[in-house]
Amino acid sequence: MITHVEPTESISPPRAWAEINTSALQHNLRVAHEVWPNIAMMAVVKAGAYGHGLEDIAAIFAKQGVTFLGVANVGEARRIHRAGITIRIYLLGATWSEERREIVEHDWTPCISSIAEARSFDQIAREQGKCLRVHLAVDTGMGRGGFVADHLPEVLATLRTFTGLEVEGIGSHLPSADEDEEFTKKQFLRFAKIIDDLGGPAAFKWRHLANSAGLLGYDPLECNLSRPGLMLYGVSPLPEFQKKLRTVMSLKSRVTLIRELPAGHGVSYGREFVTQRPTVVATIGIGYGDGYPRHVSGHAARVFVRGKYFPILGRVTMDQMMIDVTDAADVCEGDEVELFGPHIPVSEVAAKADTIPWHIFTGITPRVSRIYIDG
Ligand SMILES: *Cc1c(COP(=O)(O)O)cnc(C)c1O
Repeated sequence: MITHVEPTESISPPRAWAEINTSALQHNLRVAHEVWPNIAMMAVVKAGAYGHGLEDIAAIFAKQGVTFLGVANVGEARRIHRAGITIRIYLLGATWSEERREIVEHDWTPCISSIAEARSFDQIAREQGKCLRVHLAVDTGMGRGGFVADHLPEVLATLRTFTGLEVEGIGSHLPSADEDEEFTKKQFLRFAKIIDDLGGPAAFKWRHLANSAGLLGYDPLECNLSRPGLMLYGVSPLPEFQKKLRTVMSLKSRVTLIRELPAGHGVSYGREFVTQRPTVVATIGIGYGDGYPRHVSGHAARVFVRGKYFPILGRVTMDQMMIDVTDAADVCEGDEVELFGPHIPVSEVAAKADTIPWHIFTGITPRVSRIYIDG
């Protein structure tokens, strides 16, 4: 059943759309809770909920009782707030000074990577007569933000002198939980040791380290909050857990044209593909302008139409691409085409484009309608 279409202008019939299965999303959320039972969750919804639609997805997670929503920036926090969603918002990266007043006003939760940032938040919070809850960010290997471990006791002592701040949590991030098990295990142990050295678990209400791969593949140790993103959207960064998850997004389009080309005829820009035989070519109404990656060109990428797979011919163009349907007499103009979804994992498309599923999801452009279904 279709529950919602975004954007809501007339898009009938859409050329390229993403069906978002909200039941599958809720299933994946339950899986995350089962893998780390009794551990609270920050559902990561940055980058428009990984291209799935920020407000719609945030509302579902809020209803399912996650503890925080993780966003990349104030713009995303603002959109969640304006949608009337009231659960706590956590900012996953550092903040600009211009953003801080608004953060304090709404009691969004920043992670602190520098004393200067903490001082600035402290001042604004005291001006507003508030005590802002913040998390201490620790760099245990990612190299992107946070304090490095050597100076942490002094850092924490300084932060605790700021009366406008409450250091409510401690967090770190895993750079290679899906690539380097040994390093990641050590990182979990190091994070636990850091917490112990700073007063033990009781010193921090929230302790968090794990992204999807961290949650799926490792024990929480002293963590009591997880931060999954990708797995909630149905893709496991660790392939052995993929069968537990359900596909949330299916990227779809339609056959717009069917033509017969003679042998020796080029197909698409650069004429990298030339027909070897008389070939029935179907043109499809989706391209890299919709976020389907142009980089799959020449790597035997395939699409799914009427229960069968068909190869993409030549380069993906901005708004259209061509497939070989010579062997399928039943394919017609108007037929629905799956670019990825239940029959073609997004990880397959990502691999053929030499990138990662996170990149494919977040690259789906606004002209692709998001259609919310439960089923
Ligand atoms: C994006 C992000 C996550 C979620 O990562 P997934 O691999 O998508 O689960 C968790 N924590 C931080 C700090 C992030 O930036």
